[in-house]
Amino acid sequence: MAGGLLELREINACYGPVRALRNILLRIDTGNIVSVIGARGAGKSTLLKVISGITRSTGGTIRFQDRDITHSSTMEIVERGISQVPEGGQLFTQLPVLDNLRLGAYFYHNRKFKPDLEERLAWVYQVFPPLRRLANRLAGTLGREEQQMAAIGRALMARPKLLLLDEPSRGLPLRTVREIFRLVRRLNDQGITILLAERNFREALEIAHYGYLLGAGVVVREGTAGELLADG
Ligand code: ATP
Repeated sequence: MAGGLLELREINACYGPVRALRNILLRIDTGNIVSVIGARGAGKSTLLKVISGITRSTGGTIRFQDRDITHSSTMEIVERGISQVPEGGQLFTQLPVLDNLRLGAYFYHNRKFKPDLEERLAWVYQVFPPLRRLANRLAGTLGREEQQMAAIGRALMARPKLLLLDEPSRGLPLRTVREIFRLVRRLNDQGITILLAERNFREALEIAHYGYLLGAGVVVREGTAGELLADG
């Protein structure tokens, strides 16, 4: 039976006077895809950044695999098994795809134990076969869908247990969005738990087990994906 992987309790975050998140309660069970849906400015990106330690919460607790990670550094959080794919992918456009992928395991650079990068690369190529062919291309020359694939591939190099995806469909035509979401499902089939932040609520819920609707920094509705889809 699935167990709780990540738990947020009473999480708050602000940018100066702007309260971006207010008293967020959220739980992700192992093996699930959880979609956080909401309009522009609802707080989705902030939520993901707070989980990965990029933005600090101003109250509340975050537990991952029963450990308190509220005050952990981003490096520690990646090491524990949470990787984020930022909005727009944020690849290093002047570097080849291969270097971008290698950077996903960079947090090991000053560790005695070094991961087998080749083994990790082979796994990423197995998940996303086109990346092997694109390995020597500069990331900035890739199409949007290929960039998104490379950005997800980079996050996979850290071998995450939980993958945070920030609006992977942004700016993509519907056909490509469906393709990206099929990839997300395949990752989930490989045993990776996923938190997907999206404006594209229908497609995001169609692949999810559970969903949260965020509005102006608060959870306004939560339920199984089926329940939220039935709401329209
Ligand atoms: P989008 O769909 O446009 O990416 P979002 O749901 O991800 O939006 P956030 O980017 O988390 O929303 O923004 C939540 C709130 O915080 C908004 O009111 C936004 O204007 C504000 N905000 C976000 N980043 C900053 C920042 N760096 N400085 C000040 N305010 C910010």
